Amino acid sequence: MEVRFWGVRGSVAVSGAHSARIGGNTSCLEVTSQGKRLILDAGTGLRALGDQMLREQNLEAALLWSHLHWDHVQGFPFFAPAYVPGARLTLYGPGPDGATALRDVLDRQMQPPSFPVPLGAMRSQMTFATARDGEPFEWGPFRITPVDLPHPQGCLGYRIEADGRSFFYATDVEMSLDELSPRIARAMEGVDALCLDAQYTPDEYAGKVGPSRRGWGHSTAIEAAKIGAAVNARRLFLFHHDPAHNDETVERMAEEARAYCEVAEPAREGKQILVTA
Ligand SMILES: [Zn+2]
Ligand SMILES: [Zn+2]
Repeated sequence: MEVRFWGVRGSVAVSGAHSARIGGNTSCLEVTSQGKRLILDAGTGLRALGDQMLREQNLEAALLWSHLHWDHVQGFPFFAPAYVPGARLTLYGPGPDGATALRDVLDRQMQPPSFPVPLGAMRSQMTFATARDGEPFEWGPFRITPVDLPHPQGCLGYRIEADGRSFFYATDVEMSLDELSPRIARAMEGVDALCLDAQYTPDEYAGKVGPSRRGWGHSTAIEAAKIGAAVNARRLFLFHHDPAHNDETVERMAEEARAYCEVAEPAREGKQILVTA
């Protein structure tokens, strides 16, 4: 199983020399195994992934959404494979009525006056499906288990297993080790790689620098590291970097996090990892 980061930024995309090493696109990951492709979230990183799929002429994928906040859907109108007849896409919306909720959001964001081309102009074969908390399903070689995470309007984490390896994607979650529910801890336990929200510094979260971020739905890199260590993750990728943080800040936060979890590192756009034991 391989994982590639196409977008690692939270909230809104950034660009410029100050973010060149970490990357500026919003959430999008690609997980591949045995020639099959999963896509996690449709932030602005999805655009370049779609172009890569066109170059490969491999136009089949399942897209899983953690939730429908804008930094996780905005890349979809620019996902070129969706316009290609013959492309086959399965789109999993999160929550009890995920298929309907996802279709509504993708439809609305492409309606006037927001966008010139409607969802109906996408001529690929799109099948809408639902991902529900605690109900595992299989797609290709992947076994996928959605898990509810604490976030405003909710968010699903995904435990993904293939080739005897495991990966857990947990973007957009506000937790500390003290608040970590046993249910989430069990779902994350022993994963080969864990991707975890680490947007804030402790001072930002507490309101010592600007407003308090408590209740905004994101975690500190320190708490992410404590959780990564507590669940015995073999690798930890700090994710959903704050748009106000330049490369030096993100790298310093990861360095500080390593005091609590020595396998912590910042997720970087373009980085591809082989998930191994
Ligand atoms: Zn987000
Ligand atoms: Zn969110």
